[in-house]
This record gives sequence, structure tokens and C-alpha cells, in this order.
Amino acid sequence: MEGLLAISQMSSFLEPGRTLFLTVHVLGLACFAYIVARRLTPLLRANPDPRFDRPLDRVGKVLKFWFGQWKHPRYRTSGVLHILIFTGFILLAARAFSVLMVGVSESFVMPGLSGKAGHVYDIVTDYAATIVFLCMLFAIVRRLVFKPPRYVVPAKYGKAHTADAIFLLSLIAILMVADSLFAAARAAALPSSAQPVEALAVFSLPWILQVALSPASLPTLGHLYFAGYLLHQGAFYFLLCYRPFGIQFHVETSLFNVYFAKLDRGTLKPVRWGVSDEQLDQVKSFGVNTFEDFTWKHMLDFYSCADCGRCSDNCPANAVGRPLSPRFISIKARDYAFQHYPMFGKAGNGAPLIAGIYSEDEIWSCTTCGACEEECPLLVEYIDKIVDLRRGMIDDGNVPQSLQKPLKALESRGNPYGKMEKKRADWTNAKDFQQDCRVQTLDHKNGADTLYFVDSITSYDDRMQSIGRATAGILEHLGTKFGILGAAEKDSGHEVRRFGEETLFMALRNHNVDAIKAAGVTRIVTADPHAFNALRHDYKDIPPVEHISQLIARAVKAGKIRFKPVDGKDKDKDKVYTYHDPCYLGRHNQVYDDPRDVLDAIPGLKRVEMQRSRDRSFCCGGGGLMLFYEPKEEQRMGVKRVQMAAEAGANVIVTACPFCMVNIEDAIKVAGFEGKMTAIDLAELVGEQIVRESPAGKLEKFPEVLQECVPGR
Ligand code: SF4
Ligand code: SF4
Repeated sequence: MEGLLAISQMSSFLEPGRTLFLTVHVLGLACFAYIVARRLTPLLRANPDPRFDRPLDRVGKVLKFWFGQWKHPRYRTSGVLHILIFTGFILLAARAFSVLMVGVSESFVMPGLSGKAGHVYDIVTDYAATIVFLCMLFAIVRRLVFKPPRYVVPAKYGKAHTADAIFLLSLIAILMVADSLFAAARAAALPSSAQPVEALAVFSLPWILQVALSPASLPTLGHLYFAGYLLHQGAFYFLLCYRPFGIQFHVETSLFNVYFAKLDRGTLKPVRWGVSDEQLDQVKSFGVNTFEDFTWKHMLDFYSCADCGRCSDNCPANAVGRPLSPRFISIKARDYAFQHYPMFGKAGNGAPLIAGIYSEDEIWSCTTCGACEEECPLLVEYIDKIVDLRRGMIDDGNVPQSLQKPLKALESRGNPYGKMEKKRADWTNAKDFQQDCRVQTLDHKNGADTLYFVDSITSYDDRMQSIGRATAGILEHLGTKFGILGAAEKDSGHEVRRFGEETLFMALRNHNVDAIKAAGVTRIVTADPHAFNALRHDYKDIPPVEHISQLIARAVKAGKIRFKPVDGKDKDKDKVYTYHDPCYLGRHNQVYDDPRDVLDAIPGLKRVEMQRSRDRSFCCGGGGLMLFYEPKEEQRMGVKRVQMAAEAGANVIVTACPFCMVNIEDAIKVAGFEGKMTAIDLAELVGEQIVRESPAGKLEKFPEVLQECVPGR
């Protein structure tokens, strides 16, 4: 009885505030609705983006990346912290709602949370509030004392965000204290012996406050109860309405951002969604020039960025001092949106972004390696935006000097070196090679079913031609009927497209598609991950394509390829190999294991992993026409990469991409490792180690390896 009396008395303490509470509710919700409506204004003016397809895939993404916090543990301390806070918020949502409702209707109980279930929930959420509170304290100390470098804001990107972060963390801590004070004051007013089920969770924040408040008189507890309620309500609505003004907006937008995230890796956004290639000449301008040219999803990305710095921490361009930090691509655009779409007054001004918030060099500095997107816990996209910004610059005739010549050559000769088309197959004419392997140029009549798509760098670069010969040798060894397009092949256009030259890309693609169709093949193999990605994702209506490493791995597993030991000669005994994942084979196409399986199948091969490997691989610097671009940088990416290999204890870097080979071999010299370290392509290594004498009859079966396992597209 005593306890029940106390409850009614406690409720009566809220009575004088009912009108005030109701007013705060109405005002808080109205403010929030207004703020969100204003924030949505640019999205409504933005370009279309069809992200309403494949709902099951999207829900799967939400469950994995949002609800499951999949990417957070990649950074252990902050990841665990975020998971605890996120879980706490999810658990506390119903409690916060109940507390808000109690101010209006004292008898309010959340459906399903009455009786025992309610008491269990209260205990769980007492601990949740405590954990969130402690996490806030820890996060504040971490920000102020340990200052993780990835949060630092370089002077060129404006002022530090620490104060804002501390303010928000403190607000959440206050919300937890208010919630706990409310529960503690109420519990302290109840004689625990009479109402044991009302007991607070032992050692939780509400419990500690209850113990501290137990000597207080009922009127004092009533005042604290009222104060706790008001503080909770105030902090709750302040947070709700303040969040859309800074990084904490991601709390509201992240669920939607993950749901509408890009579903297909390796693909590139078309120039304009809903506009076919044939209609492109009717489009006024290509790409993004002004903020309003972004798609609504890309704007949602800007709002959703949590400023955690993981993208920039993994960006190779940022690591070598290029003027690009992906985090600030988002932050600057978000600040632009806030400034030009204010809460009151006229919105938007359509000012150019380049030379406005972004510099040309910043946008050209990206290698499209995908490390930023791989790392972002909220699935913020960068490559499509950067390519769109490049398309906008190209549309304005804004092409970096060093790229003008290769682009012209691509237009006139189909390769960036300006070499004659008829020389494209010259790499097959090496005398030693011709003794073992005759590479035919395909036409419909020669009965080949496999096209080896060579692409420009392997066709024309003297050093890379060896990769071409090794690849052809492997295909020959497997007994497959293959050929090349020869002079009929043009550059795949992969880099051209990522550079932003869509029209040139379309011309190259259309030419190649016709040539591939004319060759009458049923499958394509390439040793160039850039060509692989283009053929797989940028081309349509062509046979399935795979990278040579996939084919070799399958042949090894099937026993069709055997290797001699790598340490057969004395000079090879001290070799330690490491595999460098090319971005367009690994991150963009998820081929991580096949090259490693091949290496591990070579007897005697000692292999170590670099610290940054697989989906955290560090770009060599070759993507996005970067071989021809001279960026402002403090150090070459390739140099950083070979240093990583040396740190791992390796002296042979194996890669599976001619672009990587150019950069890594060059970097070995620049880094001073010449004579101590070498680089080799996987196909070259396989070519060297393969046992060519096969048991009689075995060779004829080899084409089955291709037949069985070429993946569907
Ligand atoms: S884009 Fe993603 S990874 Fe980069 S700062 Fe924002 S939330 Fe963090
Ligand atoms: S794609 Fe690579 S280079 Fe470009 S911003 Fe992202 S991490 Fe940096």
C-alpha cells in the first residue's frame, strides 16, 4: 500500500508540468519535422537514382551492415564502442518513448512491456543506459586525450570537429543521466521491501543514483523526479533537432543510406539514370557540375557520413599526400548543403563545385581503388561521385595536360600510346615464344571458343608483353582453342570511363563488342583486371569473362597443372613471396583466394601476407588513367606498397595485373630495393613453374577446365 501510495504521489509530481511537457512534445516534433523537411529540399531537386529495386537484397544489407554493424569491428576499439552504443540505443528506444509518454499520460505502458516482461526490460535497459553513459565518457576521454589521428582535420579542410563531437557525446551522456535520475528518484520513493520487482539493476547508473538518493525526503525525490523528467525531455528533443545540423544526422539517415546502398560492386553509375546511350546527346551536360547535379542518394551519403575518418585512413591518395581525403569530399558537400539550403530563406545557388568546394587536383587524385567504400561502415559511395565530377570537368573541356595526349591517341588509335593498330599483336611474334605457342587472330572460321582479351598495356608495353605470352602459354598448355582479336581489339576503355570520358568509352566499347561478337567465341579470358572489370561490368551482351588467375586456380585444383618446386635453384632458396591484390581483381571483383591458392600450390614457395592485404590492399597507384597523370604527391603509392612488402619480410612481390607491375617495378627502383626485391606477375610465375610434360591423353581433357567452370555473368 505504501508503495502504491508513493507511486501515485510520484505521478502527481509530474502533474504541474503536463502542459509544459505536452508543449515540448508538440514543439519538439514540429521542429524536427520542419528541419528534416528543409534537409530533404536538395534531395528533391537532385538527379534521379533508381534505388527501389531488389528489396530483399536491400533488407539483407540493412541486417548485415546497419543492424549487424558488420564493418565496425574493422577498427577494434571504436568498433566495439560503436556496437555497444548502437545496441544501447536500440534497447533504450522503447524506454525513451515510454518516459516521454508518461509525461502526457501517467498510466502509459508500452504494449508488451507490462508485468514481468516490463521488469526484465527495465533491468536490461538500466544496464544499457549505464553502458551508453560509460561509452560516452570513454569516447570523450579518447577524443580529448588519445586523439586518434584519423579524427584530425588538416588546416586546409577547416577547423577541428572535436568540440562538436564532445558536445554531442556530452548531450547523450546527459540524456542517460536524466533517464537514470528519473528511474532512481521513482525507485527511491518506493520501499523496496514492499515492491521487490521494482528493484533497479544492481550497480547500474539508476541503481547507484537510487542508493545515493534513498535518504532524501519524498518531496525532494519528487522534485528530482520532475527535474529528471524535464531534463530527459529537453535533452531528447534538443538532440533530435540538433542532430540534423552535424555529423550526428547519421543517426537518422544511416538506416536509409544502407538500405539504398549500391548493390553491385565494380559497376559504375551511368551518366544519367533513365537516359540510354542513344539519348545521351540530348543531355545538356554530363556529370556533376553543381551540387544539384548529384543524385539524391549521393546527397543522402553526405548527410550520412559520420566523420569517422575510416575512408581517408585507408585512402592511398591521402596516405601519399595527394590533395584528396574522401572524408572531406562528404563533409565539404554536407557543409555546402547546410549553407545553401538553410533553415530559413531561399535555398540553393547552383554554384560550380570545382574551384568552389573541390579542387581539380583533388578530383583527379583518385585511383578509383575502392578502399574508402570498402571501409565505410555506412556504405557511403565515392567512386561514382568522383567519376561524375570528372565527367563534369571533361564536359567543360577541363582535361589535365598530361592526359590530353593519351586520350587523343585512344580516340585515333584505340590505345593510349598512339601506336599502330596493326602492331597490337606484335607481342606474339617473339621467336622463343612462337616455338611453343602460336596465337591465332580470331575470326568466325577458326573454330576457337575462347578469346584472350589482351588490352592495350599488355599489347604494347615491352615489359608487359611477357605477361601476354605467359597467359597465352598457359591457355596453350591447357589445350584450349583460343585466339586474340589482334588489330581488331581496342582498349577496353576501363580507365577512360573512370577518368570521366564516357563518349570515348562508349566508342571503344561498341567497337570491341562488335569485334567480340564477330569472333564467335563463347568465353573470354584476360590477365588484366581492368579489362576484366570493364568486360564484366561495363560491357553488355558478350560472353562470360574471367581472369586468368581463376582459370589457373581451377586447373590446379583439377590436377591439370602441376608445378615444379620454386626453390629448385640455389638463388631461389631465400625468396619470400607476397601477393599484392590488384584493386580491380580483389576489392571490385572479390577474387582474393584464387591467386593465393595458385601460389600455395607451388612446392617450396614461402609466402607471407602484407599487413594491408585482401580487401584492405593498398593501391599501387595505377587505376583511373593514373599511369599518365602526374599528381601532386609527397611519395608514390607504389613506393609505399613495396615498403609494406619489405616490412612483411618479402623479397618477391607477385601481382596479377600489368598496371600493378609497372608501378611496383618502378617503385622497387625508387625505394632503393633494386637487386634485393623483384616483382613478377602470377601468369609469369605459373609459366616458369609449370610442368610441361603431361601424361599422354591428359592434355586433351584440359579444355574441360574452361568448359566446366567459367562462371555465368
Ligand atoms: S564516408 Fe564513411 S568512412 Fe568516411 S568518414 Fe564518412 S562515415 Fe566514416
Ligand atoms: S577510391 Fe581509393 S583513391 Fe579514390 S578516394 Fe577512395 S580510397 Fe581514395
